[in-house]
Amino acid sequence: MTLKVDTLNDWIENGPSPAMQRYAAEIFRLQQDHETVSLSDLVAEAATSMQAVSRMIKRLKAEGYLEHTPYRGMRLTPAGEKMAMPALRRHRLAEVFLVQQMGYDWAMAHELTETLERGLNQELEDRMDELTGHPTRCPHGEPIPTREGQITYPDDQPLVEVGSKVWSRISRVRTHDLDKLRYIAELGLVPGTDIFVSGCAPFQGPLRIQVPGGVDQVIGHELARALWVEDVRNDRPMAE
Ligand SMILES: [Zn+2]
Repeated sequence: MTLKVDTLNDWIENGPSPAMQRYAAEIFRLQQDHETVSLSDLVAEAATSMQAVSRMIKRLKAEGYLEHTPYRGMRLTPAGEKMAMPALRRHRLAEVFLVQQMGYDWAMAHELTETLERGLNQELEDRMDELTGHPTRCPHGEPIPTREGQITYPDDQPLVEVGSKVWSRISRVRTHDLDKLRYIAELGLVPGTDIFVSGCAPFQGPLRIQVPGGVDQVIGHELARALWVEDVRNDRPMAE
């Protein structure tokens, strides 16, 4: 069984492959919403077989990028998080490029990014960064790591925790559900939009939302949970 040892040495000598980096980036994304990531979460996002994902997890673990506790889930080690940053940057820049330069809506961009990012190298990534004006957020509002691997999260919180009669600004739209993304875009509830929650039904009922110059929208609690907002009280005159 020397083959097994050789394979392991091979892995370690060659450093993380692009596929490992993409997996690490995916785990990093999932970690933002879950304390630990489960195998099935990852299979659902990676759109590949359970065996392929298991093999990758084994490899990330063997090389010290991942801690995996059976039945509890996995989490990247600090080395794993560091390794994930270039792939996360590439993924989010590709999303911006697809929306801003190629005219796709953000739901389509989410799907096409997976394909596009696999063909990128540093040269193409840098050109995309330039053409899109060195963006710091993806179309969904998620921060893009710098080339040095620094990531800065916005100081935001879920809209459902803000309460009513407060102005806030949409910072991130945190869902991967294509239908939800499309609907949220239709309502114009995209990052950068200021909103005012004028009413909120009790027991996780619907929220009534005002957009400056727009009509009132009523959205369900479940949809509202995808919206993260930043405080804008300091930016805005006390209108209310
Ligand atoms: Zn995004």
